[in-house]
Amino acid sequence: MAEKRTEIADLGEFGLIDRIKNNFSTQNLTSLKGIGDDAAVIDIGTENLLVSTDMLIEGPHFDLSYVPLQHLGYKAVAVNVSDIAAMNGKPEQIIIGLGLSNRFSLQAVDMLYEGIRAACNNYKVDLVGGDTTVSASGLVISITAIGRVAKDKTVLRSGAKSNDIICVTGDLGAAFIGLQILEREKEVFQTNPQMQPDLEKYEYLVGRQLKPEARMDIIHELGEKNIVPTSMIDISDGLASELLHLGKNSNLGIKIFEEKIPIDSLTYDTSIEFKIDPTTAALNGGEDYELLFTINPSDFEKLKNHSDIHFIGHTHDNASQNVMISKIGTVVPIQAQGWKHF
Ligand code: ADP
Ligand code: MG
Repeated sequence: MAEKRTEIADLGEFGLIDRIKNNFSTQNLTSLKGIGDDAAVIDIGTENLLVSTDMLIEGPHFDLSYVPLQHLGYKAVAVNVSDIAAMNGKPEQIIIGLGLSNRFSLQAVDMLYEGIRAACNNYKVDLVGGDTTVSASGLVISITAIGRVAKDKTVLRSGAKSNDIICVTGDLGAAFIGLQILEREKEVFQTNPQMQPDLEKYEYLVGRQLKPEARMDIIHELGEKNIVPTSMIDISDGLASELLHLGKNSNLGIKIFEEKIPIDSLTYDTSIEFKIDPTTAALNGGEDYELLFTINPSDFEKLKNHSDIHFIGHTHDNASQNVMISKIGTVVPIQAQGWKHF
């Protein structure tokens, strides 16, 4: 009898990845960390090599009616650099897989690569190869980033200890609200092409969506201060989901305080305008590409006055209890949102 069909959506993205992970074991001693972190960790002797790949697909990930190709190229590199940063590493090379249809002209490809070049210059990475092929369903960009990190400075999702302080960089939710603005302006433009989009007021939010930066600046600063986070992940899917990854991988519970979540005032006000709870935008919005990490409390002194690092809570021993203390003092379970794309 044929096996009953199971929908991928029933497993969800993380369920599917877990299933793939459980069906494979590593056969080389050099594969120090395989599936399940921001990047693979490979033993190359005195240091560790880091490898991470991310694919962006036209439609689910970007809409070319409002995403300029230069920005797309930049973002495709930045999101990969962000995964190397999340291992406390330094990116050095990228390899690009490109799927193109005849909808794209040479000028369009040039613009895409202009953005890629700007990101390569900014993050000091070298484009060292790739593959070009034809795509039936729009633009596909798959980037693999390669980086390096000292063995004793390699940071996994799994290294947090009980009572570590949970830190987050920058501010959250802006990229998600920026996307809402772009979608709204697109609709306005479609019903009335004479209307010019009014984006100036929202420049910060739209910029956070279109041109995110990987927080290599933070990685360099932590290095200068001689701080090695106990665990780290980048925030690509929203704070809630990433907190649960750190908790699960470190076998700890998470406790955060809503009032400590960094949300920019424009994000806050615009979120309200869209009738979206700003905290929900920060917890579930995603695409912020900020860093979420834990530190040993003994490192707090060295970071406490940092203007761009926020202390939102701590880890604890009860792995089944992941909670946020709301602004009015209620205990809210932290839940990851379901998969968006399936
Ligand atoms: P991130 O959001 O940091 O890019 P992902 O959630 O995409 O991380 O991936 C989590 C882990 O699962 C990573 O180790 C990644 O390499 C691995 N992974 C994702 N998809 C697959 C796949 N189809 N096959 C094997 N490993 C995968
Ligand atoms: Mg990541």
